[in-house]
Amino acid sequence: MPTDDSGLPAESWRWTEQTWRGHVDALRAGRRLVPDRWPGDARVAVALSFDSDHETIPLRDGETSPGRLAQGEYGARVGAARILDLLARHRVPATFFMPAVSALIHPEEARAYTADGHELAVHGWIHERNTLLGRDDEKELTARALDTLETLTGRRPVGIRTPSWDFSDSTLDIMLELGFAYDSSLMADDEPYEIVATGRPTGLVEIPVDWIRDDAPYFTMDRYGSVRPHSRPRDVLEIWADEFDAAYRDGGVFQLTLHPHVIGHRSRLVALSGLLDHIAAHPGVWFATHAQLADSARAVLAGPTTSRSVPHAPEHTP
Ligand SMILES: [Zn+2]
Repeated sequence: MPTDDSGLPAESWRWTEQTWRGHVDALRAGRRLVPDRWPGDARVAVALSFDSDHETIPLRDGETSPGRLAQGEYGARVGAARILDLLARHRVPATFFMPAVSALIHPEEARAYTADGHELAVHGWIHERNTLLGRDDEKELTARALDTLETLTGRRPVGIRTPSWDFSDSTLDIMLELGFAYDSSLMADDEPYEIVATGRPTGLVEIPVDWIRDDAPYFTMDRYGSVRPHSRPRDVLEIWADEFDAAYRDGGVFQLTLHPHVIGHRSRLVALSGLLDHIAAHPGVWFATHAQLADSARAVLAGPTTSRSVPHAPEHTP
């Protein structure tokens, strides 16, 4: 519950300017990190990601019934292999964000990602809701996830996507303490940016996500809930192609977040396959892992400020 300056609960309309401005300024988007040209003189950067959550979504909520777990198992048993085949056919790299428990259940899959030249990155321990954890628990689980992926694959991940696509009061400090090069959980821009904490540039690169460029909102359902948001995969392909086309025009980044247990179904893979065909018809596309994209973004941070590396308009006049 929101509190006023004295720590008492308060309606937000009673907050002082110091309070609401403090919440807003706690974590902001800083410099936009877009180089004049992408590596290889490309016009657009494409960063595909797959969150290999599998069984950890129900496990996170303590749901252990075979029916729920089987839905996640499909992602590992069927979806991931189909995705790896498709990426190999198009010869494009991707980043797989994998909860450590998912990687421990499917160690060969985790190793297959890196063996195929893709990036494996941190996505929590058991897809925990990091915003509900105390600082010590959040740090311990994140560190354990990092160590687990390194032990399984021999490579220490450099990136993280928080399972809840959100930050607790401690998340940023934990990322900096554990030495992550980038995060990919926030939504303040279409393009990569530097995270700024209470006015202080942190050096941490954010590769933003968005629900628009995610398969889950279009395709998942809750059996006992009233929502049936089934979209036609070909309609979703059109949305993603529009997102790519605009990124291409802007010379920016097209980033996508998919889940093997969601997109890996036969009729839905049509959307991903069609999208890759659409992108392949364009010259000057740089397919990058999120880590490669973060490196390119960080190089902008080290250089002079250009018109492409600042937001279009000032945030506000103090
Ligand atoms: Zn996830």
